[in-house]
Amino acid sequence: MKEIKLFINGDFRTSEKSFTSLNPANGETVAKVYLPSHKDIDQAVDAAENAFYSLEWRGMDQNKRAEILEKISEKLKERRNELVELEVADSGSSLRKAKADVANAASYFKVLAGQLRKFQFEVKDENASRAGFSHNYRVYEPVGVCAQIIPWNFPLVMAAWKIGPVIASGSTSVLKTAEDTPVTASILAEILNDAGLPKGVVNIITGGASEGEYLLANKKVKKVAFTGSTAVGRKIMQNAGERIQNLSLELGGKSANIVLDDADLSIAVDGALYAFLYHAGQACDSGTRLFVEEKIYPEFKEALVKRIKDVKVGLPTDPATAYGPVVNKKQLDTIMGYIETSKKEGAKLLAGGSRMTDGDFSKGYYIQPTLFEVTPDHTIFNEEIFGPVLAITPVKNETEAVKLANQSVYGLAGAVWSKNQQRAINVAKQLETGMVWINEYHLLNPGMPFGGYKQSGIGREMGEEGMKAYLEVKHLWISDCDERAKKPWFDAIF
Ligand code: NAD
Repeated sequence: MKEIKLFINGDFRTSEKSFTSLNPANGETVAKVYLPSHKDIDQAVDAAENAFYSLEWRGMDQNKRAEILEKISEKLKERRNELVELEVADSGSSLRKAKADVANAASYFKVLAGQLRKFQFEVKDENASRAGFSHNYRVYEPVGVCAQIIPWNFPLVMAAWKIGPVIASGSTSVLKTAEDTPVTASILAEILNDAGLPKGVVNIITGGASEGEYLLANKKVKKVAFTGSTAVGRKIMQNAGERIQNLSLELGGKSANIVLDDADLSIAVDGALYAFLYHAGQACDSGTRLFVEEKIYPEFKEALVKRIKDVKVGLPTDPATAYGPVVNKKQLDTIMGYIETSKKEGAKLLAGGSRMTDGDFSKGYYIQPTLFEVTPDHTIFNEEIFGPVLAITPVKNETEAVKLANQSVYGLAGAVWSKNQQRAINVAKQLETGMVWINEYHLLNPGMPFGGYKQSGIGREMGEEGMKAYLEVKHLWISDCDERAKKPWFDAIF
């Protein structure tokens, strides 16, 4: 059986406690996973702190760090098949999604390396500087030891987005994987060693809420970066508030997909299905509220209900599968609970609505693609489900679409579908979210920032913003005024 060990100070170690990671498609064991003790977690943080202050890491030139990022990218591609196989087994990702995940993680490290090579860590501000008086610099410095926590939906990609800026900035980290999906991060740990990352710069531990809480409470941690639910994010922010700690949060969403009456209907129908069904709806940016202008609503609804039958739910290992099981029994129960609530509240079920248990499906957690027609007072209009369930609502016009789209505590993403680009841009600019696609969905660009407004988070990942989230900025004032009496403060005190 595969063993997932703790990655501390460049070494892989076992521990006294362990658990098994299960395949959500069939309940089979994927790996034996060692759980860190408090001592292991403390040692991981110590390793990160020692690495942070080591000459080897502090003195490493940015081009050399970029080289390491490029090597990680190459090695991810070399180990692609193994990573895909493990991600499929451990998380229930479809084969297609797992392949895309490995490619995206590799591409992220490569793009980040390019950004790092160009990034200026010391910038003289010509406006602030005055000849004969001072020259003033912005100096970007690594934030220090980070504690990073990731969820189970995109295990490898989430680990990449966390580890990448740590290396780029010259910081160090202890990353905790999610209890359901600890496997591929362990391969990434091997890759970090192979790429020549100095020992202790990145440490990877396993565990759940209690290991996460213990890690975050360590006083040596200077920055917390968390991706997960808004409920846990809120608690982490409260604790970070106690310590005035640097914090990045990537949280939940209830993103709006707006179809205007001049959209290309066949593309918008497929786009709407892709937006909420990718990875069984277990994506933070899923388009789970669909607004369609009244004029085209009957036609659109009919086409959607017809087209949803072409989405193949299947075993994750089947190349034709669009999506497989949800990650675990708890998630299955939560989603089915929302479906039952919607039925009780009188939301109109247009498609799906049941667990799938025939044949091979009986061994896993499969749910039909589900469509409900809802109004804003229905629970699923407002709450994140994280499953293959869409809430669809007709709207009078784009003004009402914008109003309802913004009627959410979340603000992660959204999309507008229209053949008139300018009209779509006008709508997109009114959406209170960190990402809006026009005639697309889910696509990300590693050179551009991703993150949420409102309760979807604080800060951004990827893009220059993603690296700056791991940098402190120092104003360095260098005096050019070397005559005592001419110093501006001289009169103030003498
Ligand atoms: P979760 O909040 O339950 O868990 C996320 C991680 O936090 C896990 O590693 C878990 O072990 C850990 N954790 C749980 N309680 C903790 C605590 N008290 N202290 C420290 N760590 C703790 O979320 P989940 O169910 O694993 O993931 C789904 C959620 O993540 C959804 O809400 C989704 O929208 C969000 N998400 C957001 C993004 C984004 O970029 N905005 C990306 C992926 C997922």
